[in-house]
Amino acid sequence: MESILLLAHTEADGTLAKPALEALTAALALGGELTVGLVGGAVESAANLAAAAGARRILAVRGEPFTQPRYATDAAAAEALARAAGAAIVLAPATARCARALPGVAYRLGGRIDTHATGLAVRDGVPAVTRWFYRQRMEAVLTRTARPWVVLIDPGCFAPWSEAVAGAAQVEFVPVEAPQSRTTVTGIQAPKADEQTIRPDAKLLFVAGAGWTKKQPDGAVHVAEAQQLILGALRGAQASLGGSKSLVDLSGEGQAVLPFMTHLNQVGQTGSTPRHPKGLSTCCHGEEPHVVGWRFVNERRAVNLDPNCGWARGKADVVYVADAFAVVRELNRLLG
Ligand SMILES: Cc1cc2nc3c(=O)[nH]c(=O)nc-3n(C[C@H](O)[C@H](O)[C@H](O)COP(=O)(O)OP(=O)(O)OC[C@H]3O[C@@H](n4cnc5c(N)ncnc54)[C@H](O)[C@@H]3O)c2cc1C
Repeated sequence: MESILLLAHTEADGTLAKPALEALTAALALGGELTVGLVGGAVESAANLAAAAGARRILAVRGEPFTQPRYATDAAAAEALARAAGAAIVLAPATARCARALPGVAYRLGGRIDTHATGLAVRDGVPAVTRWFYRQRMEAVLTRTARPWVVLIDPGCFAPWSEAVAGAAQVEFVPVEAPQSRTTVTGIQAPKADEQTIRPDAKLLFVAGAGWTKKQPDGAVHVAEAQQLILGALRGAQASLGGSKSLVDLSGEGQAVLPFMTHLNQVGQTGSTPRHPKGLSTCCHGEEPHVVGWRFVNERRAVNLDPNCGWARGKADVVYVADAFAVVRELNRLLG
């Protein structure tokens, strides 16, 4: 097997986040000689972990400019590590930082890049990458002769490496002059923790459809209650929130609908394809362009007033023909 470089950014405390630990598992499974290249302000914990995992060399670019997510510095650090390692295969987790910087790095190295890898294996002695095409409809296995071959590994596809770590690693620091950049990171604006609605690691995907905003059997709309019920279910079950296109489009038009619902929540053909063990669809019709986004949701249930909705046509394991307001009200009572 060819030599492998695993690139990863460290957290503020010098550890590796889950996507990087998953990529480490993937790298180890390939079986080649492994170098780990770390980028960040502190790298010690991650280096010790890499040594415990069996990395032959541990390289690092360390310094304040490399703590910030910024194309110029991320690309410079990754390029320097790749050149120092000289590895044929360069793996990295498909984080926002790596996804932004590594295509340019592959170009600088004269290599090739593949993104959204969901599997890695050695076939007939050469590494092969599995990924999906055409919005998760076709799965392909790719090999390439071009080297270095940079591969970004999608989160959630490998178990994170989690063995006990002992001892201190020897780290080779690679000097990199931070390139001039017009981008200065002045701070991070993020929703408060309890307003966070997209939780990729959640066991449950809770999908809200446009029905929540429609006239109900009493002839009135009940958007305020819908908001309270949906947020209650999300908090109670620590679920991730998905939405149908109809619902997120309504929100985008600035109507008084569900203010926490954005296009980032949209699941489906023109939205996302999240991976969760279970999914509960509420007030959503279950049309095909929506349901293709449920490809990686293993167990599916839906609540709809319409016994003839799309979910009832073989798209869900269980369909509750019921009023979602009543069901979620009761669900929240049980949760909390
Ligand atoms: C090219 C293309 C791409 C598309 N991409 C996507 C995509 O990525 N994602 C996506 O979601 N859609 C997508 N769509 C749109 C999709 O076809 C549907 O129009 C959309 O999913 C419908 O959203 P909905 O089910 O929330 O709304 P509706 O069709 O309005 O359904 C609302 C449902 O709520 C139910 N309901 C109402 N009140 C209650 C209640 N009290 N209790 C229980 N049930 C209730 C109703 O019975 C109804 O079934 C795409 C369409 C096209 C043409």
